[in-house]
Amino acid sequence: MNECLFCKIANKKELADVVFESNKIVAFKDIYPKAPIHLLIIPKKHIPSVNYLKKGDKDLVGELFLVAQGLAKEYKIDKIGYRLIFNVGKDAGQTVDHLHLHLLGGKKLPWA
Ligand code: AMP
Ligand code: ZN
Repeated sequence: MNECLFCKIANKKELADVVFESNKIVAFKDIYPKAPIHLLIIPKKHIPSVNYLKKGDKDLVGELFLVAQGLAKEYKIDKIGYRLIFNVGKDAGQTVDHLHLHLLGGKKLPWA
């Protein structure tokens, strides 16, 4: 079976700067950061985008947000603020078809 780039990162077949890992989730630094802190939080399970979420994924999605909350605290941006983004589809600029939550912070972020 063909694995996507983020499946490969989750399965340690592709190198990434991993900052968090649990049995269901991995978080790593974005290779082209758009802010001083730019992390990607992904489920290990392949889900192409928000469009493909199922009722059974509810806990997993909740976990993504809790990991983001923990990382924001760890990187000391929880109080000053940060942005969480899911890009969905081509008009939103989704380039990797594996669900990922962007965590951006460390500077005052412009909108869009
Ligand atoms: P999106 O545009 O929402 O699909 O986000 C994909 C993100 O993945 C972009 O911000 C890329 O910079 C990032 N990215 C692409 N390849 C890698 C990689 N090998 N390691 C870490 N981040 C990556
Ligand atoms: Zn994948």
